[in-house]
Amino acid sequence: MGPFHLSLRDIINNSLPIFIFTFIFYPLFTSAQETDAEEILRSRDVELRKEIINVAPNVYTAVGYSPANVSMIVGTNGLIIIDTGMNVSHAEEIVNEFREISDLPVRGIIYTHGHGDHTGGAAAFIGGDMPEIWALENFGIEDRPLSLAGLTIQRQRGVRQAGFALPDELRINNGIAPAIQPGRADAFVANLENTAPNKTFVSGREVIEIAGVELELVAAPGETNDQIYVWYPTQEVLFAGDNYYKSFPNLYAIRGTPYRDVLAWSKSLDLMLDEEPASVVPGHTRPVIGKEAVQLALAQHRDAVRFVHDKTIEGMNLGLMPDELVEYVQLPDELSDEADLGEYYGRVEWAVRSIFTGYLGWYDGNPTNLSSLYPSEEGIRMAELAGGIDELREKAMESLDEGDAQWAAQLADYLLAINSNDGRAKLIKADALTSLARQSVNALARNYYLTIADTLRQEEEN
Ligand SMILES: [Zn+2]
Repeated sequence: MGPFHLSLRDIINNSLPIFIFTFIFYPLFTSAQETDAEEILRSRDVELRKEIINVAPNVYTAVGYSPANVSMIVGTNGLIIIDTGMNVSHAEEIVNEFREISDLPVRGIIYTHGHGDHTGGAAAFIGGDMPEIWALENFGIEDRPLSLAGLTIQRQRGVRQAGFALPDELRINNGIAPAIQPGRADAFVANLENTAPNKTFVSGREVIEIAGVELELVAAPGETNDQIYVWYPTQEVLFAGDNYYKSFPNLYAIRGTPYRDVLAWSKSLDLMLDEEPASVVPGHTRPVIGKEAVQLALAQHRDAVRFVHDKTIEGMNLGLMPDELVEYVQLPDELSDEADLGEYYGRVEWAVRSIFTGYLGWYDGNPTNLSSLYPSEEGIRMAELAGGIDELREKAMESLDEGDAQWAAQLADYLLAINSNDGRAKLIKADALTSLARQSVNALARNYYLTIADTLRQEEEN
């Protein structure tokens, strides 16, 4: 009997547990109950699994311990940490893992940008001596104008998009991050009291040396205007921050942020390509290793970002309005078919709308919309068209039953504009949103739909 010939007994002894798991347990508890979209989103878990990855000699990245990646470079007499995770308890777990590799003191921390999921764990890496803490001079610029204005709603919207208010069983993952509870929602806002940058640079390229390691910090506006990438020339490793991760990028965040400069983002990806890295460590998801793979990955992302920008501009110049542009701007198949450009985190549609308003503001160009009816007035007129409020509600129910969840939600909105206490309309909307959530491969949309659906149901119960 050759070594590859298996008897039935061998199969039972060796493969039965795998067989049972693969074909019985796993489908029973996951895919059998899941929609195609949910299965696709869940399949991204493989990118988010917990692991300390040895990217290059003396370069390690912790994936899956916190929503964002945390990297360590081991220098001659100290460590450099690039991004620090979302909160101290995540970061402490990573410190424990890194301490298995080196017990040298942390001499430098570098923030790729000011978002809380990259900065909130910094305190865990600071021991006796204060390390150099590097960032771009405008660090934290994205949130600053909102805070100065006294705007707080983006935090609530942030909790919705991240799914922090949802029960665990409704969360799959966040598209580019595991569905980790943050130690509650407020941890998403960085605690920078003692961990603020103490070394900054203004623009261009800053060459620094920490613990015998020479690094180049490069200003690279994209996801945020304070974004940098870190280039480690000796090992040809590029730490991309959030200008690159394995999803269609979040060119617009539905929690609400100032305009993300999409054209600048594509140019930052050009800069990154020009470095010709041997490996790239994204802000989220696993590193890409190998020059060819890196070039392909970064070029595809650059092409997707540039395409959406340029096609939107083309449509705007034709006089198309945002709702029309969403139909006009479709990624070409060779990009949309790429698994790593799936819309798990960002969405093309949101980017298109954001590019429009980023350049031209809210007015779509149609004079009908210079002074639209108030929602309550429009709702009353729609009810009249339907033959009355009860008939409108009936129509909404029908749409829901026919699987037209988007229209059901829109009709429910008319009803709720007429009467915000219309309990049946709330439940129709809740069911419609749940249905939309379950058809969405986009984790942020899913989380947002489900959170609002949950709120509407709770309101109805009370
Ligand atoms: Zn991030």
